[in-house]
Amino acid sequence: MATTSFLYHTLGLRGYRHLRTDYRHAEVAHHIELQDHKRRCRDCGARWHELTLAGTFQRWVRALPVGRRVQWVVLHGHEQCCGRCGKTLREPIAFVEGKRRCMRVLETYVIELCQFATIKHVACLVAMGWDTVKDIYKGHLKRKVAKRRLSGVHYIAVDEFAIRKGHNYMTVVMDLESGAILYAQEGRDAQALVPFLKRLKRSRAKLKAVAIDMSQAYLNAVQEVFPKLAIVHDGYHVVALANKAIDDTRRDLYRDLKGEERKVIKGTRFLLLRGGERLRKEAKQRLDALMAANEPLYTAYLLKEELRMFWAMGDEETAELVLDNWLEEARVSGLKYFEKLAETIDKNRRGLLSYFQHRISTGPLEGMNNKIKVLKRQAYGFRDNAYFKLRLYFLHEATPAFPG
Ligand SMILES: [Zn+2]
Repeated sequence: MATTSFLYHTLGLRGYRHLRTDYRHAEVAHHIELQDHKRRCRDCGARWHELTLAGTFQRWVRALPVGRRVQWVVLHGHEQCCGRCGKTLREPIAFVEGKRRCMRVLETYVIELCQFATIKHVACLVAMGWDTVKDIYKGHLKRKVAKRRLSGVHYIAVDEFAIRKGHNYMTVVMDLESGAILYAQEGRDAQALVPFLKRLKRSRAKLKAVAIDMSQAYLNAVQEVFPKLAIVHDGYHVVALANKAIDDTRRDLYRDLKGEERKVIKGTRFLLLRGGERLRKEAKQRLDALMAANEPLYTAYLLKEELRMFWAMGDEETAELVLDNWLEEARVSGLKYFEKLAETIDKNRRGLLSYFQHRISTGPLEGMNNKIKVLKRQAYGFRDNAYFKLRLYFLHEATPAFPG
């Protein structure tokens, strides 16, 4: 049987007197009333002895469930005439936020459950509507993100993510020290990034370096807002370009060759793209045979593997030698895709070399790709872009949701 102290200890109801408990339709309702000496005027804060009780009202508020059983708190409230300010107002209610229909303790419980279960499961567990659960969690994330300060950010990575099949992209910024996604915005042009960089600037963040790919858009954005900031073009994207160059070379060869020579190239894509150290013995033998049979492909493969060595160098000086050597080899290789890549790399050499000052990359952001994909799939269910972004901002601390 519920008592005043039971309600205090289980629901945190302080200053309320227990009137009675009803059991109806498999639901429990605790009727309560504010203790007179706890009364305050909602407007001026005058205490109980300056108040006269006027009309009454009843307010039903959802409390924590007991297992799957719904519990209510039914407040028998009063309107209070204030002798000090002269107003007649309803008594203030401390255990519920504004006009909501559930207690703060229940909201906190819902938020805790949302950390490791999907909205759907939480809604089912606490017997609440899906929208209500989502609104509670969304409000929590909103308050949390508003408290985030950017002034301590030193290293960021920027990258684009495909958000829908086709050409719908999102620009995402990560704090490389905390792993938190700081910003997500539709589009992948300079304008998708500039507003955030300006916010960083206003927050007086002492930014040391940014990791981006070699596309012009992000470069323009960074140079517009932070003209002197060190830019690091990370290995991940450059190696991806080298992989594309080797793939294009292979495709051209395949198209132009005939007979036996053509057969040798067929089905070798993965051999060429995979890092040499990751090939098994049998694959290595096939690769060797391919290399012996086709000289251009051999050259292309060596160029790709040599480029990967760049990031393994110990210092900038050695790395620069390796890079110059590579650029020279690529230029005289007679392979048009590598000649083009050499041009791009030479244009961005400063950004490649600055890796040896600031060893950062977009790798950690790429590493989140899968988590983002999972969230995106769930996001088709919620169709609420603002909520999707809020979830992104706390993805680094999320425990994976239960499958299904
Ligand atoms: Zn008053």
